[in-house]
Amino acid sequence: MKFGTKAIHAGVHPDESTGAIMTPIYQTSTYIQDGVGNHKGYEYSRTQNPTRHALERNIAAIENGEYGACFGSGLAAIDCVIKMLNPGDQVISTNDLYGGSFRLFKTIFEKYGIKFHFVPMGDTTEVEKLLNENTKLIWVETPSNPMMNIVDIKKMAALAKKANAMLAVDNTFATPYLQNPLDLGADIVMHSVTKYLGGHSDVVMGALVTSDKKIADEMYRIQNSSGAVTAPMDSFLVLRGIKTLHLRMQRHCENGEKIAYFLQDHPKVDMVYWPGFESHPNHDVAKDQMRGFGGMISFTLKGNKLEDAHKIISNMKVFALAESLGGVESLIGHPATMTHASIPKEIREKSGVVDSLIRLSVGVEDVEDLIADLEEALS
Ligand code: PLP
Repeated sequence: MKFGTKAIHAGVHPDESTGAIMTPIYQTSTYIQDGVGNHKGYEYSRTQNPTRHALERNIAAIENGEYGACFGSGLAAIDCVIKMLNPGDQVISTNDLYGGSFRLFKTIFEKYGIKFHFVPMGDTTEVEKLLNENTKLIWVETPSNPMMNIVDIKKMAALAKKANAMLAVDNTFATPYLQNPLDLGADIVMHSVTKYLGGHSDVVMGALVTSDKKIADEMYRIQNSSGAVTAPMDSFLVLRGIKTLHLRMQRHCENGEKIAYFLQDHPKVDMVYWPGFESHPNHDVAKDQMRGFGGMISFTLKGNKLEDAHKIISNMKVFALAESLGGVESLIGHPATMTHASIPKEIREKSGVVDSLIRLSVGVEDVEDLIADLEEALS
């Protein structure tokens, strides 16, 4: 089955009692049993819920994986992956990643004896230097937030395999429409479903997908034991959102490309970070492992002044100033003071998150209006 068909049909069945085509919102905490232990596969909604179950099957299908699990947020999904590790284990992560993932690693898990290394992953040099018998996980985010760095998933998968470590890929920016990390050798794919999968800025949710039975068993054990599950209503909203993921992504990509070229030609703009440019350091890898370049773009201003960035952002009329990304509406953000404020200045600046860096989540509006908005604010 091709992507659009799977997005609409995978994991969902018409309701048996009524024929309702849409999966009902099973707003229930528990399920009647005919006798002790005699149930219909559902006992308690932390463990399993039919609406969530349909969504988990759907997300697994569009990621070409076997097993899916949904969580109360993207960070809860990442939390589940790190809980698969033990004290003394080591993780090698990209140095340019979502600030909340960095904060979770450093301020929550480091104190339980897990060691995290943050290195550039434009090539494999730094990862190879750090790999040792305690390395149990390589954490990749590609394209990365907010610098749009691209990591070669196949190469990282080969390294992880050699070291007997798991490779997990945060696929939030690309979405399964543009990239399938499991097909490239990753063991786990993670999503902040809050973003493109939900697509309408009305849900906070996370997901993991794997095809490895042992990893899946751990994933479900932790999901049930830690209890960071998502709600039936939210599962319903995301099931609905995913039905148009392919259509939305086509427009995000088209609009993103036009805006990237507009910014590149603008006299006030210094650098534009977008993997579709041939000049992007890993453009060839992006072309190889992605089916399009997405709607996320970051750029800096000539002079690199914080106040210029703030002025431009506050002059936008169609782009809304807000955290988050991946919804139908265009958003603008300032990573240094918003999404990446939890990363110390010297660390974030090393990875390129400088004071004038502005991040755009290009929505699916008419691109002429988006360009006019940027043009006016920049001038
Ligand atoms: N990963 C990436 C790339 C993100 O951008 C985010 C949130 O912005 C997360 C993970 C965390 O997801 P959530 O906000 O759903 O917890």
